[in-house]
Amino acid sequence: MVVGPLLGRKRDQNHLSTSQLGGWDAWNARAGWGGADEARDGTHTILGMSVQQIRLFGDPILRTRASEVVDFDKELRTLVTDLTDTMLDAPGAGLAAPQIGVGLRVFTWCVDGEVGHLVNPVLDLTEEEQDGEEGCLSFPGMRYDVRRAHGVVATGQDMYGEPLTVSGSLMLARAIQHETDHLDGILFIDRLDPEQRREAMRVIREATWSGEPVPTVKISPHATFGRAR
Ligand SMILES: [Zn+2]
Repeated sequence: MVVGPLLGRKRDQNHLSTSQLGGWDAWNARAGWGGADEARDGTHTILGMSVQQIRLFGDPILRTRASEVVDFDKELRTLVTDLTDTMLDAPGAGLAAPQIGVGLRVFTWCVDGEVGHLVNPVLDLTEEEQDGEEGCLSFPGMRYDVRRAHGVVATGQDMYGEPLTVSGSLMLARAIQHETDHLDGILFIDRLDPEQRREAMRVIREATWSGEPVPTVKISPHATFGRAR
């Protein structure tokens, strides 16, 4: 099963720059979500949606390799729903399970109006590369140019355990690579050149959100397989 823009379908757009396609600002392109009541545990609900607190840089779970999913059960489907709702609420082009405190190999994406998810992704990257601006919901307000493969074929499973392939280029390929990195504890600042990375670390040190205590979830909203932190 193939979901999302195909490489062939996207090829005629290759002459456009990523900024002409909406660029990484598409992370913030969606509007109209919000107005939610925030609960004491940092989560909130909008018309049945379950928006989780997003973990920020400094939280150790973002540096921990996530585990393969083996149980394709109701809890996994709840996790996919939580990831989707939290991603759309942020809004963002993608969100990986560790970013909401769950150490499992699952991510969701939202690119060009299409929303999807992938479990246990394995990536096949094109040799051709792309340069473009990238941001991360775990680094509020920060954007840097990051070189990525131009296209990707990602294979894995859907939330029911059925084989799933997601193929795409440009923004979708960038989002898939960014989110899969999260599952290996790799963050987008790791992909910057040394000078950019020094600048990013300076910005982080001065950021208002930096150094905030790591959130704890006293009562998990759903089973987290003992891997929530
Ligand atoms: Zn990210």
